[in-house]
Amino acid sequence: MNRNSIIRRLAEKEDVFDFVVIGGGATGLGIALDAVTRGYSVALFEQSDFTKATSGRSTKLVHGGVRYLAQGNIPLVFEALRERGILRKNAPHLVKDQRFLIPCYRWWEGPFYFCGLVMYDFMAGRLRFGRSMCIGPKRSVKTIPNLRGKGLTAGILYHDGQFDDSRLAINIARTAVDAGACVLNYMKVTDLLKEDGNVAGVVVRDEESGDIYPVKSKAVINATGVFADNILQMDTQGKRPVVRPSQGIHLVLDSSFLESDCAVMIPQTSDGRVLFAVPWHDKVIVGTTDTLMKETLEEPIALEEEIQFILQTAGNYLARAPRRSDVLSVFAGLRPLAAPRGEGKKTKEISRSHKITRGNSGLITIIGGKWTTYRKMAQDTLDFAIRYMDIPTRDCVTESYAIHGWKPDPDFSDPLYVYGADAGEIRKLIASAPEMAEKLHPDYAYTVGEVIWIIRNEMVCSVEDILARRLRILFLDARAAVAMAPGVAKILAAERGKEPAWQQEQLTAFTDLATNYILNG
Ligand SMILES: Cc1cc2nc3c(=O)[nH]c(=O)nc-3n(C[C@H](O)[C@H](O)[C@H](O)COP(=O)(O)OP(=O)(O)OC[C@H]3O[C@@H](n4cnc5c(N)ncnc54)[C@H](O)[C@@H]3O)c2cc1C
Repeated sequence: MNRNSIIRRLAEKEDVFDFVVIGGGATGLGIALDAVTRGYSVALFEQSDFTKATSGRSTKLVHGGVRYLAQGNIPLVFEALRERGILRKNAPHLVKDQRFLIPCYRWWEGPFYFCGLVMYDFMAGRLRFGRSMCIGPKRSVKTIPNLRGKGLTAGILYHDGQFDDSRLAINIARTAVDAGACVLNYMKVTDLLKEDGNVAGVVVRDEESGDIYPVKSKAVINATGVFADNILQMDTQGKRPVVRPSQGIHLVLDSSFLESDCAVMIPQTSDGRVLFAVPWHDKVIVGTTDTLMKETLEEPIALEEEIQFILQTAGNYLARAPRRSDVLSVFAGLRPLAAPRGEGKKTKEISRSHKITRGNSGLITIIGGKWTTYRKMAQDTLDFAIRYMDIPTRDCVTESYAIHGWKPDPDFSDPLYVYGADAGEIRKLIASAPEMAEKLHPDYAYTVGEVIWIIRNEMVCSVEDILARRLRILFLDARAAVAMAPGVAKILAAERGKEPAWQQEQLTAFTDLATNYILNG
C-alpha cells in the first residue's frame, strides 16, 4: 500500500471513477471495499490518517448491542448480531470472542438479565459466539477477582466480540487497494466538482505536498461522520445540520483492575447508560459517556466531569477503585448521530441506525451506524447509489470476502497477532539484523523491525500515525508513547529520507498531542 504509487495512478487516470468516497473511517473504507469488489472503479480520500476521527476511538466491541435489546430495537440487534458473525468469519485475526460478566446486586437482576441474554443468543442463531449463563456470587468474584463482592446476588456471563478498530481499518484499506481501489490518506476534499448542477467529482489537496487534484466521478459519497455537514455545505450553502455529535470518553487502566480476561458490563449507570470495562491489549478500557457537544473537533478532549463520572462509576463496582493517577491514557470520540427532526431528545435515545440521503445535486451522504455494521452500511449505501446511476448493477460480495491478513485460529497471546498472515513477514524482518530486534520501550514488545515494516506497508506519514493508530500505544499508555516517540521519529525520518528539522517537528507535534491523553493531578 504505497502512497506515492497510488497518487501517481490517480494523476495518470484519464477516465472518470464510478465512485469517489470522502472519509477514511469505518464507513468510507467499507464503501470503497464494497464498490471495488463489485467491480466498480473507486477512489477514497481521507483528510488525515485512516481512523484519526471516531473510528479509532470506539470501545472496541463488535456487538449486537445488549442496550439496544433493552430499548426494544430488535431489528438493529438482529442486524448487528449477524454482522458480528460475518466480521469474525472475514477477519478472524482481528475479532475475538470476548466473555462479559454482568454483576447483579438486586435479586431480580439475575433472572431479568439472564432472560434477555438467552434471547440475545437465540437471535444470533448459528453465528452465536458462546452460550450465556447465570453464576453465583462466589464464582463471579472468582471470574473477576477485583469485582466488588459485597451485596452481589449473581453474575450473568455472556459473549460478544472485541477488536482493534484502527488495525481493522488499515486491513480493510489494504484489502480495497489489493482489489484495485485508489485509497489515500492525507488527501482533503476541499470542494465538489459540478456539471449542470450535478456533483461530478471532487477537488482534493494532498496535505503532504500541497498538490491539488480535480478527480471526476459518476457518484460522490460523503462518509465523513461528524464532519458530514462541512461537505453538505460545499454542496448547498446554509443547509440545516444533519449530524449531532455526542462525545464518549474512555479511560485506560492497568490489567490488574480486572485481573481477568473476562470483561465487565454495568447495565444501568446513574445516567441510564451502560458502562464497559474491557480487556484490550493487556490493559483495561473503561467507558463510555454520552455528552452532547457543540463543536466538532478533530482531536476531541475528555471533559473533567466525564472523567469523574467514569472513575466514580467504575469505583462503585470494583473492590480496588481506580484513581486519577492509575489512568494510563484517556481518549475521546464523537458519535456521528443523526440529528432528529424534533428537538429535546436525549442522546442515548437518538437512533444508532444509519441514515442514507441524496441531495438535489446527487451527493450521497451516510451518517450514523456502528463499526460492527460497517459492511452492511456499505452494502446499503452502494445499493442506494446504484439505483440513481447509469451503470450496470452488480451484487455485493463482501459477506464472504476475506479481509487482508485473514488467518484462521490465531494465537491471541502472540504480540504480533493483529497482523494475521503478515506476522511471518514481520518476524523475518526482525530476525534479519540485531538492530531490527531492538525494543522501543523496556515494558513493551514493540521492536524497530515492526515499526519499519509498518512504515513500508501501511501508508504512514507521521509519528502519530505509528504510535496512535498502528501500534496503539498512545491509547494504551500515553506516557510510554511519549518515551517511544524520539526512537520512532528517527526511524521514520531515516525511512522517508527526511531532514533532522522534520524529525524534530514530528517529535514536537506528537509530544503536544499526547498531553491530551495524559491525566495529570
Ligand atoms: C465513544 C464511542 C464508542 C464507540 N464504540 C463502538 C463499539 O464499541 N462498537 C461499534 O460497533 N461502534 C462503536 N462506536 C461507533 C463507531 O465508532 C462509529 O459509528 C464509526 O466509527 C463511525 O465511522 P465513520 O467512518 O462514519 O466516521 P469517522 O471515523 O469519523 O470517519 C470520517 C472521516 O472523514 C474524514 N473527513 C472529514 N472531512 C473530510 C474531508 N473534507 N476530506 C477527506 N476526509 C474527510 C475524517 O478525517 C474522518 O476520518 C463508538 C463510537 C463512539 C464515539
